[in-house]
Amino acid sequence: MTIASNETTTAAKTVTHILGYPRVGSQRELKFAQERYWRGESDQAQLKQVGKDLRHRHWNDQIKAGLDYVAVGDFAWYDHVLGTSMLLGHIPTRHQQGFPDLDTLFSVARGKAPTGCTCAAADMTKWFNTNYHYIVPEFTAEDSFNVSWQQLFEEVAEAKKAGYNVKPVLLGPVFYLWLGKEKQQGFDRLTLLPRLLTAYQQILTKLAALGVEWVQIDEPALALELPREWAASFKLAYQVLHGGPKLLLTTYFDDISHQLAVISQLSVDGLHIDLSAAPAQLAAVTEAIPDHWVLSAGVINGRNVWRADLAEWLTCLQPIKQQLGANLWLASSCSLLHSPLDVDSETDLDADVRQWLAFAKQKCGEITLLAQALDGDQNAVAECAAYSASIKDRLSCERVNNLQVQQRTAAITPQWAERDLPYSERAIQQQHALQLPLLPTTTIGSFPQTTTIRSQRSDFKAGRLTESDYNQALQTHIQEAITRQHRLGLDVLVHGEAERNDMVEYFAEQLEGFVVTQYGWVQSYGSRCVKPAIIVSDIYRAQPMTVEWIRYAQSLTTQLVKGMLTGPVTILGWTFAREDLSREAIANQIALALRDEVTDLQAAGIKIIQIDEPAIREGLPLKQSQWQEYLDWAVKAFKISAAGAAPQTQIHTHMCYSEFNQIIASVAALDADVITIETSRSDMDLLKAFEAFAYPNEIGPGVYDIHSPNIPDVDTITALIDKATTLIPIERLWINPDCGLKTRNWTETEAALTNMVTAAHILREKY
Ligand code: GLN
Ligand code: ZN
Repeated sequence: MTIASNETTTAAKTVTHILGYPRVGSQRELKFAQERYWRGESDQAQLKQVGKDLRHRHWNDQIKAGLDYVAVGDFAWYDHVLGTSMLLGHIPTRHQQGFPDLDTLFSVARGKAPTGCTCAAADMTKWFNTNYHYIVPEFTAEDSFNVSWQQLFEEVAEAKKAGYNVKPVLLGPVFYLWLGKEKQQGFDRLTLLPRLLTAYQQILTKLAALGVEWVQIDEPALALELPREWAASFKLAYQVLHGGPKLLLTTYFDDISHQLAVISQLSVDGLHIDLSAAPAQLAAVTEAIPDHWVLSAGVINGRNVWRADLAEWLTCLQPIKQQLGANLWLASSCSLLHSPLDVDSETDLDADVRQWLAFAKQKCGEITLLAQALDGDQNAVAECAAYSASIKDRLSCERVNNLQVQQRTAAITPQWAERDLPYSERAIQQQHALQLPLLPTTTIGSFPQTTTIRSQRSDFKAGRLTESDYNQALQTHIQEAITRQHRLGLDVLVHGEAERNDMVEYFAEQLEGFVVTQYGWVQSYGSRCVKPAIIVSDIYRAQPMTVEWIRYAQSLTTQLVKGMLTGPVTILGWTFAREDLSREAIANQIALALRDEVTDLQAAGIKIIQIDEPAIREGLPLKQSQWQEYLDWAVKAFKISAAGAAPQTQIHTHMCYSEFNQIIASVAALDADVITIETSRSDMDLLKAFEAFAYPNEIGPGVYDIHSPNIPDVDTITALIDKATTLIPIERLWINPDCGLKTRNWTETEAALTNMVTAAHILREKY
């Protein structure tokens, strides 16, 4: 790339934009409107009005913050991948009934809608390694694509009419295919690309007719280590799409420099890179891209909540600005969908912490300020320095640094991660100590979070219920859970997790080092949002977190009660982490806090302790070549949390997903005495990975799907366990549901568990 002349650089204003904005609204308006509509309490017109108001509010936020473009098409009624399927007229055949409308969309997502068909919903899966879930497109050889749903064009017209400078956001064609899965054996979805491109051409032509100059086209799969034929497909795709509106090819979440040979050949007009996730790629990318391209520098982290160090970015980008002039754009690293909306609503956070944070609204302001500074505005330069001062002060702040925690973490030796005896010897001691029958039955931890429990908790939080009344109420729920489990005849009991709003937030509230927000909601899927806690400082456990609840539960029964903890990798994965410490170091701090809890539970007489790690798999880096490094420290953190347990104490872990093939060695390395996993939907097939690996410890393959209200019958469960015994020796099998039961009601739960226990009894007779 050649150096632009000085003349152009001084006059060249840096263009600013974001890749997308949170869509649910500050009060989760979209969520409530959707749910009202699904319950039949409002009509489509009312729902659409809520969406329209939100879009206008969010565009206005972007303009008020001073951004040059508003992102349009980032809004979604359920999910933007599903929105793309609708735009392309690409819906599973079972959901096709006339012209696709909002109810078609909801029926694909949820399996039902106020009108339209009731048939199997499409699968949902994680969006890279975030906690956002998208609806998986289904591909068959017969698929066709016809631009049908007008939502995108209506939104563009809406924004144009309001006078905004519009930049539509599209998922790229290769990425759209990448995200989906084939519904036919032996079929290769990439062969659909030519057909798909025709539809994309039509979309781009329509956008051009609406007066659109730039389109953001997302191809973040370029950050992965793609199979060769996939990497090669971009060239054709962009040759075909070239010629309409200008295309800004967007990548995010990781480095793309390994694909620069492919990318720099594409017929596009600009490239967006995520410099927050992968700052080191800047030089190579700047060097490689053609002179006439725009480079959109994604510097403001869309996936975390911290203020950006604007002063540092300014220094880093000044030479690039010199070089690129008007061709340098500034942006968020990725869509702000993954960020909460507005720090200013967090009135309960103390002022110290608040000045360290920037949510979506503030991030837009950061982009503008940095651009002004880059363009030579001296007031902005000074403001950047002042803005970043608080996060620099934070680093030496006493509240953040806890010497004791740091010393303890530094003193961790490999020994800390190892139990005193190998599994084979522990198993003998545990058999002796626990006296469990063949095929022991248990559950994964939570029982129904009834409306009573939830309203008691909100009464307590609002001060309408005293702490002792609240604790009393929780004890009653525990009593009830124990009584029901006695009646059901389960072998290993749980206390039911009534005290937990959420399996991570509960621990974040108990541990030192976290803050929780009031309104920091982030969309997880559809109308569901999560409110991740924020790790602000060194983590430690000031006092036991679960011991009293479990001890109480154990006092009510002579049977074994299983202690219930959330593991270090999951607590880390489902919170906003600090960035001045490695993820490994943070995981170790959490692990030490949990280790103390494990020892305290054990001292309180608890003989079985479960440490849940449902998030280990989703934390895998985008590039497979980096998996092992991550798995190594993740496994170690888990083991540190567990290894304080004596040999006769049985450590369980739980993971709820069904893809273990590539990580089975690490799962085995956790060395948990028992692992419970989700298997019912895979018809026990996933146990084959365990069998092939000769997985040595005990396994509880889930025997029914807790996500469905259907009651599994005894025969189905018996058949599944029979199948499991062909893959895993029967003396190492446990019987349990796929996951926790907090989202079910008691009627469903008791009916399902009755059948599960009956199946176990039948099989004990048989074997
Ligand atoms: N113990 C937790 C529960 O039962 C586990 C939840 C999970 O795996 N997501 O709810
Ligand atoms: Zn689970």
